Amino acid sequence: MLTIFNTMTRHKEQFEPLQQGLVTLYACGPTVYDVPHIGNLRTFLFSDLLVRYLERAGYEVRNVMNITDVDDKTIRGAQNDGVTLGEYTQRYTRYFFEDLETLRIRPAWKYPRATEHIDQMLDLVQTLVEKGHAYEHEGSVYFDISSYPGYGKLSGVVPDEQASRQFGRLENDEYEREDVRDFALWKASAPDEPSWDSPWGPGRPGWHIECSTMAIEYLGETIDMHVGAVDLIFPHHENEIAQSEAATGREFVRYWIHPEHLIVEGEKMSKSKGNFFTLRDLLGQDYDPIAIRHQLMTAHYRRQLNFTVEGLAQSQQALTRLWDFADRVDEVPDDAAGEDLSGQVEAARERFDAELDDDLNVPGAMAAVFGLMRQVNPLLAAGRVGAEGARQVRDFFEDADTVLGIIEHEKGSIDEEIDALIAEREQAREAGDYDRADEIRDELLAQGIIIEDTAQGPRWRRAE
Ligand code: AMP
Ligand code: ZN
Repeated sequence: MLTIFNTMTRHKEQFEPLQQGLVTLYACGPTVYDVPHIGNLRTFLFSDLLVRYLERAGYEVRNVMNITDVDDKTIRGAQNDGVTLGEYTQRYTRYFFEDLETLRIRPAWKYPRATEHIDQMLDLVQTLVEKGHAYEHEGSVYFDISSYPGYGKLSGVVPDEQASRQFGRLENDEYEREDVRDFALWKASAPDEPSWDSPWGPGRPGWHIECSTMAIEYLGETIDMHVGAVDLIFPHHENEIAQSEAATGREFVRYWIHPEHLIVEGEKMSKSKGNFFTLRDLLGQDYDPIAIRHQLMTAHYRRQLNFTVEGLAQSQQALTRLWDFADRVDEVPDDAAGEDLSGQVEAARERFDAELDDDLNVPGAMAAVFGLMRQVNPLLAAGRVGAEGARQVRDFFEDADTVLGIIEHEKGSIDEEIDALIAEREQAREAGDYDRADEIRDELLAQGIIIEDTAQGPRWRRAE
């Protein structure tokens, strides 16, 4: 039974889907004007973990993630590169999908693109105009927030009397809480911009209308869960609620789920601040993609995660230990006798479930896996794990990994890594760089690997 924090009520609530056995989930996806940074990827990974959890719990999940392929940034990017909007966004959409795959983020049920749903968006805008919630001004259409009494219920903003018809001040889709105002549903296009025909002349959709339209199109007027990082609470999600509920007269979303940001030295990782890492940056420095996945999972989703290279190195070490352990469990012979481990394994599984059920505590669930490893490791080293115990551990790991996605690995990859580090240490010693050589020795020691220098060269063995 999942309890999950709902931003709308500001409480942890017991989750119950609208339809038994089925969960509808909408997550705001990327604006494809650049490669994602790992902050974006943390948020996408969060959706993946939530879906994996729900599927393991027996639900069928329909999860939709939109691709924003028309907005100010994509239009400007295409103009700067001298290519069409489609060519430009296609390039970054491809990078986005590559990054998901690299991080073992499973594909969503659907990835609708904004530019392929213009007609449906125009229908929704038309409905809002007909119902008196929207008005035209110089070829653009604005949502009148004074026409919708619930405005502010998610974010807590309170529109003042002047907020209505304040569209002229800012044309941007993203703005601060102080700038509560009517927002554009449809924007008149400049002559050199891509545009679509509409009853109000050539234009393009605003950002917010895209998500309402595609959520309703694929998941219905009321959806169970809606995910996006905290920066989207206002104005994006507040505006999604206003336009959806004003149009349908129904509750739009039942559980609003907002993961916190990835930060760097106290600041949100973002393109505009220039303090960002992409997945490609990190893979170029030889980090294993699964170590990056692991690092992005080390903080509870409602806490900021402070990204550091040291943290990433620790993830890499933790995984090496875990994979090595899993390999040795696999190598226990089929006929080996040993101790009964069912008590330990069941306790680990219970903890794993309880942690995830409690507001998707992924770090807690990982602690259950690593905790079992620490308990079983000395028994394994002492030859006290038999075929049955090994099978129990393996079954639990397989089960846990359907959510975590960090245990599965290529066999032999660890020995290769260790050999490579030892070779690097030899080179460092030959070059007289003893600090680096000692560093590598300590690094391996932290992973339980002892190097012994013999007359035949260095050898390594596992600490018992
Ligand atoms: P964008 O491509 O900018 O539209 O963002 C895609 C997703 O990443 C949205 O859900 C954002 O809220 C989220 N996001 C942006 N910056 C960060 C960050 N530093 N940490 C976590 N999520 C972020
Ligand atoms: Zn959205």
